[in-house]
Amino acid sequence: MTDAPIIAMSGLVKRFGTLTVLHDITFDIERGEFFSLLGPSGCGKTTLLRILAGIEQPSEGTLLIDGQPMAGVPANRRPTNMVFQSYAIFPHLNVEENIGYGLRNMALSKSEAAARVAEALTLVKLEGLGKRNAHQLSGGQRQRVALARALVCRPKVLLLDEPLSALDKKLREEMQLELRALQRTVGITFVFVTHDQEEALTLSDRIAVMDKGHVLQIDSPRGLYERPESRTVAEFIGSMN
Ligand code: ADP
Repeated sequence: MTDAPIIAMSGLVKRFGTLTVLHDITFDIERGEFFSLLGPSGCGKTTLLRILAGIEQPSEGTLLIDGQPMAGVPANRRPTNMVFQSYAIFPHLNVEENIGYGLRNMALSKSEAAARVAEALTLVKLEGLGKRNAHQLSGGQRQRVALARALVCRPKVLLLDEPLSALDKKLREEMQLELRALQRTVGITFVFVTHDQEEALTLSDRIAVMDKGHVLQIDSPRGLYERPESRTVAEFIGSMN
């Protein structure tokens, strides 16, 4: 069981009315991978991530996470957690309270919850800032709180929807390195959505390049760059200009 892929997608299709936004998506994501969904705006990345999260249901196909079929399993009963583009931090709560909010669906003792929050604060390098009000935080710190809130319930998969897109270039590059280091530390699978080739190439173990609801190619950054299987992938990755 532990060698089975953490995520197995087979024939996933998503339609909104008459519009098909995902076509026959079939691939696996391995345990402990930093895996990116990369493609231009509107190609279906977020919709696929939302299907993994249980926020959207596929129109067809099957999804297994950690070997379990996900049909009918609601978002809060899945071994996944999601970090959104807009961080959705509560400004009236302090950092610890914001992170502790991630534990609201778990029946933990007060001391266990406090230990989890402290562990999450350390993971995202916010030790000592637990009592600070969220509205006093910088953009980068808010992003760390959002990450800690998602990690505090120890998901097996962290789903990240363009989490760095609101940050300026310098902070974004800093957070890229931190995100990669964080993923190595916690050792869980990250599924990262981005339209930014450089970001995907820097961060990922493997990347699925998507276009118009199809997965065009899945490979390591180097594999995509050196052996693009189509002109679209080559152009998008930038190995052919
Ligand atoms: P991406 O994340 O790659 O930018 P999305 O997954 O957000 O792409 O969107 C893919 C397509 O699905 C787009 O054409 C978008 O307009 C459409 N879409 C997404 N969500 C809905 C929805 N709830 N209802 C109708 N169409 C939607």
